[in-house]
Amino acid sequence: MADEKRDYYEVLGVSRDATPDQIKKAYRKLAMKYHPDVNKAPDAEEKFKEINEAYEVLSDEKKRAQYDQFGHAGVDGQFGQGGFSGGYADFGDLNDIFGSFFGSGFGGFGQSSRRQANTPRQGNDRVMQMSIDFMDAVFGKTETISLEVDEPCSHCHGTGAENPSDVQTCPHCHGTGYVMTQQRSMFGVIQQQTVCPECHGTGKKVTHACHQCHGKGYEHKRQKLDIKIPQGIQSGQQIRIAGKGERGVNGGPNGDLYIEIHVKPHSTFKRQGDDIYITVPVSAIDVTIGTKIQVPTVYGDVELKIPEGTQPNTKFRLKGKGVKSRRGSTGDEYVEVKVEIPKRVSKRDRELYEKIRDGQSESPFERFKRAFK
Ligand SMILES: [Zn+2]
Ligand SMILES: [Zn+2]
Repeated sequence: MADEKRDYYEVLGVSRDATPDQIKKAYRKLAMKYHPDVNKAPDAEEKFKEINEAYEVLSDEKKRAQYDQFGHAGVDGQFGQGGFSGGYADFGDLNDIFGSFFGSGFGGFGQSSRRQANTPRQGNDRVMQMSIDFMDAVFGKTETISLEVDEPCSHCHGTGAENPSDVQTCPHCHGTGYVMTQQRSMFGVIQQQTVCPECHGTGKKVTHACHQCHGKGYEHKRQKLDIKIPQGIQSGQQIRIAGKGERGVNGGPNGDLYIEIHVKPHSTFKRQGDDIYITVPVSAIDVTIGTKIQVPTVYGDVELKIPEGTQPNTKFRLKGKGVKSRRGSTGDEYVEVKVEIPKRVSKRDRELYEKIRDGQSESPFERFKRAFK
């Protein structure tokens, strides 16, 4: 989906090192050309949205930097759902442009954009990082976090009014959210539509503000939230918590919260996908004549048979001792044996080793020399 989007610089027809001023100029030119009130081509509205989206990102220093680095993926989450698909978002600049540049000559905003002004829109998504222990990632866990969130007011449900009857149609704009102003100029009387100064575009008037939120329609709350971390989660994966993102606009729902998981490394276990890797030290004698060892797994110790003649760095597989994934499959544990040669030997050990050496028919080195010639 995202990769079908056109490059924002291409949309505005500017180079990647364009100055903010050049971007603004290019945007103004295109916005005037494709504004649905002016341009009646069937794809004008789509184009207009595309231009606005590009400008929203490239005119914001932070968003532009993110876009430069990550492309559309770097900024997509910030639009929330329905942000651009549903409306024209907040373009303070647009009022400015159509007011001062050609709002006077044309009719200003048409019916379609007027309706958009007070349409409820979902808030932006938020992303949080969370570090968890290796074992918690394997087995899952419920983690309680403290979060600040704006929730629709429980008394007025977002209207900002004490009682439903306190919400009335704005008498100034008759509920449209816009008012017409007339100006005399040397070209005659010109009409212009501007956002209603009484209701700021909502088209509604509250006669008695809600006592709980004082008319804001939402309450800022600090909440404790139980986050269910599923078993098998991996570093970089995200958990979505619906409705805990940023506040919606015009009574729209909140955006979502995404918690990005970072799994802390473990002192002995390493993980790759659903498989777990561990390296265990064994003696030269153990690999030479074979032994049984109790190997740690995330499910507790498991007996592993090291057969006679095991070579250094051999990997053994403990089937099913890896991570149980969310899909229901289970990884394995791989045990690598690291042969440790003692740096010092006791007098008693030396005597025993010498006995073994004397009993050998031919040492590896002697065999090598014989074959060397
Ligand atoms: Zn009004
Ligand atoms: Zn309220």
